Amino acid sequence: MVYAALCLLTLLLVFIPPGLTVTRLACVFSAACLLNFTAFYFFVHISERELRSIRKLINLIRKNKISSPEEIVLPENLYDLQEEIRAMYLRTQNDIDYLKKLERVRTEFLGNVSHELRTPIFAIQGFIETLLDGAINDSKVNMKFLGKAAHHTENLNNLLNDLIDISMIESGEMHLSFRYFRLIDLIKEIIPELLPEAEKKNLKLIVNPFDEKLQILADRNKLRQVFNNLILNAIKYTEEGSVSVIIEADESAARIMIKDTGIGISEKDIPRIFERFYRVDRDRSRAAGGTGLGLAIVKHIIEAHSSKVEVRSTILGGSEFAFRLKH
Ligand code: ADP
Repeated sequence: MVYAALCLLTLLLVFIPPGLTVTRLACVFSAACLLNFTAFYFFVHISERELRSIRKLINLIRKNKISSPEEIVLPENLYDLQEEIRAMYLRTQNDIDYLKKLERVRTEFLGNVSHELRTPIFAIQGFIETLLDGAINDSKVNMKFLGKAAHHTENLNNLLNDLIDISMIESGEMHLSFRYFRLIDLIKEIIPELLPEAEKKNLKLIVNPFDEKLQILADRNKLRQVFNNLILNAIKYTEEGSVSVIIEADESAARIMIKDTGIGISEKDIPRIFERFYRVDRDRSRAAGGTGLGLAIVKHIIEAHSSKVEVRSTILGGSEFAFRLKH
């Protein structure tokens, strides 16, 4: 109808004699008004329709009734807005998933910590109570029970130290201080400290000869912790044979390897041993004073040196833990 009125007015404009300027002006004015009205009509009409669909969509999102971005649909002319809302929805969904995962990991971690703390505390409590109940006067068992209580106290201490380390690392409070130092100096400090542990099990602790001038860029204290954890693990999980430290250097990096002739790790367990509290054999690890956190700490430290730990192992075929450091 509006279109017909516009056509009529245009025809009038064309056929009105040139003298009738007022009539011409009136027609032009009317055509302009009609055009404005039409534009306004369509604008209001379309806006309302669009607004209604946006409002409907917001309600759906608010009521959590959208389960995938494909369900976010707006009229065709609002394609850009639809895509923007889809992207926002995906981002929010990812944030929510991440927070849920964090919460799950936190709860799981707290559960593990309580469980790990409970074990040595209950054991110490049990031995002390038995001693107080009279065993203290029994010369056949009193020293044995005291020794066991002392062993669990040591486990508790190891666990607390590892927990402090892991929480410092994971909260971003581990500050590394990189400098160059001679690897041989660090090895000469570490080996005499660990040798008694190897000797207790009749194992050989061997350092293969390497370039004594080799300097590496690392945090000396953190690297000492890595060596301690890996060599102690190699000793813990080896019943006979040897534990070797093998160091090779090329132009840019030193490759450090701790190799043992121990029980080995199955293919399915290898990807999991760096998880906090994951142990292949829980009882064996506990009996050897393990906390289940050692390799998680090693992984963090080596990654903070922009490197990664590689593992090669087979059941009963021994294990190799290796990483590279710049020199
Ligand atoms: P744990 O305190 O139990 O030794 P770690 O985080 O150091 O904890 O190691 C995780 C698990 O990986 C150990 O419980 C053990 O099952 C396995 N593991 C680590 N090092 C070795 C190794 N050299 N040989 C065999 N198994 C190992």
